[in-house]
Amino acid sequence: RIVHVNGSFVPEEEARVSPFDRGYLFADGVYEVTAVIDGKLVDYAPHMERLDRSLGELQMDWPCTKDELREVHEELVRQNGIEEGVVYMQVTRGVAEREFSFPENTPTTLFAFTQEKALIDNPKAETGVEIVSVPEIRWQRRDIKSIALLAQCLGKQQAKEAGAYEAWMVEDGMVTEGTSSSAYIVKDGVVITRPLSNSILPGVTRRTLLALAAERQIRIEERLFSIDEAYKADEAFMTSASSFVLPIVEIDGRKVGAGAPGEITTALRRLYLESARSAG
Ligand code: PLP
Repeated sequence: RIVHVNGSFVPEEEARVSPFDRGYLFADGVYEVTAVIDGKLVDYAPHMERLDRSLGELQMDWPCTKDELREVHEELVRQNGIEEGVVYMQVTRGVAEREFSFPENTPTTLFAFTQEKALIDNPKAETGVEIVSVPEIRWQRRDIKSIALLAQCLGKQQAKEAGAYEAWMVEDGMVTEGTSSSAYIVKDGVVITRPLSNSILPGVTRRTLLALAAERQIRIEERLFSIDEAYKADEAFMTSASSFVLPIVEIDGRKVGAGAPGEITTALRRLYLESARSAG
């Protein structure tokens, strides 16, 4: 596999970053994951808007120009022959003596790679997935797409040990989001999802999906919902760049609705995929 580090495309065995990089020492960095379908980047512009915001909130510089970063994405897809999969990219604050406050005049580090994945013909989209709830233990700036993901790793590991696919994090009885996905329930034909704030990551898939749903007159309520409400919902689903829309059929061992992918969920997945494929 060919990866990208600081302006160079190299075989992954040759990629090098200093262990003094602040990404390694402090998880001082941000990232994006962009889906690729039919060899084309999906929702690229909003991913870069979010990257710009994450960098800005942490007073971190862009690693290169916006055009160069697009070129990095496209070149990685091309050189690795990716038809379906993702491009992962991260920017860290660079290499400096270990000190908590920011170093001056230190260039940021860019690292990017591709992963080939079957995103569209995902068997989980047919069967739906099981999830568990876990306590929300993250910091208070979850709107920044930080590479510090230990709480999410713990949550995902708990899910795995319970035989589940994802974990929804719960704060004061209310669902915030999944460890790597946005969270939704459907009740009486209305799609319910938490409004944007510092409590959750502004999902790019969420943004596109809500716009598509609104165009189709599907009713949406952006409000907090509790885990108890989720147990009693008609449908539940999650979204992310790499899973698009995935039905959730069981939460904490309780069947959601009929225990099968819901009608609105299935329609939304189809809608999203159609739009992603036609956007080019
Ligand atoms: N919420 C969290 C915590 C995430 O890590 C992710 C994606 O990784 C999402 C939501 C979904 O965001 P997106 O649709 O931009 O992939």
